[in-house]
Amino acid sequence: MARLNHHFLKLTTGYLFPEIARRVARFEQDRPEAAARIIRCGIGDVTEPLPAAALEAMHAAVDELSRRETFRGYPPATGYDFVREAIVDGDFHPRGCDIGADEIFLSDGSKPDASAILEILGCDNVIAVADPVYPVYVDTNVMAGHTGEALTGGDAGRYGGIVYLDTGADNGFIASPPTAHADIAYLCFPNNPTGAVATRAQLESWVRWARDHDALILFDAAYEAFITDPSIPHSIYEIPGAREVAIEFRSFSKIGGFTGVRAGYTVVPKGITGSAPDGGRHSLHALWSRRWATCSNGVSWPVQRGVAALYTDLGRRQTSELVRFYLENARLLSESLRAAGLRVWGGVNAPYVWASCPAGFSSWQTFDLLLGEAQVVVTPGSGFGRCGEGYFRVSAFNGRENVIEAGKRMAALTSVGSSR
Ligand code: PLP
Repeated sequence: MARLNHHFLKLTTGYLFPEIARRVARFEQDRPEAAARIIRCGIGDVTEPLPAAALEAMHAAVDELSRRETFRGYPPATGYDFVREAIVDGDFHPRGCDIGADEIFLSDGSKPDASAILEILGCDNVIAVADPVYPVYVDTNVMAGHTGEALTGGDAGRYGGIVYLDTGADNGFIASPPTAHADIAYLCFPNNPTGAVATRAQLESWVRWARDHDALILFDAAYEAFITDPSIPHSIYEIPGAREVAIEFRSFSKIGGFTGVRAGYTVVPKGITGSAPDGGRHSLHALWSRRWATCSNGVSWPVQRGVAALYTDLGRRQTSELVRFYLENARLLSESLRAAGLRVWGGVNAPYVWASCPAGFSSWQTFDLLLGEAQVVVTPGSGFGRCGEGYFRVSAFNGRENVIEAGKRMAALTSVGSSR
């Protein structure tokens, strides 16, 4: 008899986006005349074409595969050297981060990496996450059996064994290091869903906490390209001492429009160790290298060429344009929400705008209101944790026309009441 991974059965609700899709489908069924008006500002998927530099490089790479002399088979599992070198030269060395090319592990995206990293981490680690949180951090730990059971009552939606760090308007949606014991903390800056960014001093306090408590930081920098404030660090390795305590995830999904192409990378510095049951310390870089050699055959040749092209002068100019385009969307959406009398966060150093619900409305009620009255799909804040209740997220990943129209419709909803 095949036994299943019973930890999956602990997952309480489906992933947030299936529920959104269900409600949108029901709306389309109930109000077919309004279905065509729907503008989706919910899921964080890009809309604009790939930067031309990446496209050209990928076309050329496909052509190379058509000739025996230039054909490529299996790539190195962790990425070709020219890509890993372009990454450290482009993303880390200019910021003074002491990261080597052999500490870069190229992958098909940072969501898979955030999940796979659990393969090298013990199941008895206590993890700490902010609330609201990108749900992947929690659900992957539940699936891997690294948490307790789903909680009930006032803690419904949470899981035993996880340390939740409440955030809200009062702390600018930035979690402080836990006072309770935790072995691993997930940090995501710029943040999904709130768009918050951590200052250098805040990141320093996290690195200090990790060093003092022999803990590990899993730093998700999927949106670093959207940082506009020059004082905000883009990488955790800009903080002295982080090399020994932090793993960083990066993604090309949003900076390069690669959500469909698929590419990202993880930085695992050689200095980080974890403890074995006998108390011995072992290199996580060695374990992760072994994991890659065993479980992956790497990223395709055309995609690796596309990634490298993002780091050329032309590629950089084109990705900057793309980022500026989405940030302008975020600015327009923020303005509209403010015009509707709502309080707004994020959207300046991040492609997500986080807004308070109209007075008296919960997150899902606001979702239904915006879908029903404005045919704008947003993401209910409560889907990211109980501290997200009373808020909703608007994604700036959209075409300009849609953003302007969605903004107009949301701004017109002032009649629903003023902000909390
Ligand atoms: N990390 C965060 C915080 C995200 O919001 C997302 C995508 O929405 C990802 C990672 C996924 O990145 P990728 O497309 O590289 O898997």
